[in-house]
Amino acid sequence: MSEPIPLFPVTPIDPVRFAAEQHRQFTGMRLHIGRSGVAHRVSWVPWMNSLTLPAPACHQGWSGLGAGGEVTPTHQPVSCRKCLRLGGEPDDPDQRTLFALPGEEQS
Ligand SMILES: [Zn+2]
Repeated sequence: MSEPIPLFPVTPIDPVRFAAEQHRQFTGMRLHIGRSGVAHRVSWVPWMNSLTLPAPACHQGWSGLGAGGEVTPTHQPVSCRKCLRLGGEPDDPDQRTLFALPGEEQS
């Protein structure tokens, strides 16, 4: 049997090196999904052979492995409200009250 003709160019990736590079880039960082400006807390999810890859701690959906730039590391503080709540931090302190409830003082 002959080799099938590849339809797309395939670049082999060494999983150990790829996972190590992901750890180097995302450890101690937050992450953006795609072009979103929201910064998520990083958690590590099982991948293959006991290797792990970075993912949003809040389980926000996205596709890919991150190899194509689907997730990018950032120094920005966490701005995802779900990630903040999961980390036991208060919601975004910059978010202002829309209006004063009856009996509350306006600040
Ligand atoms: Zn999040």
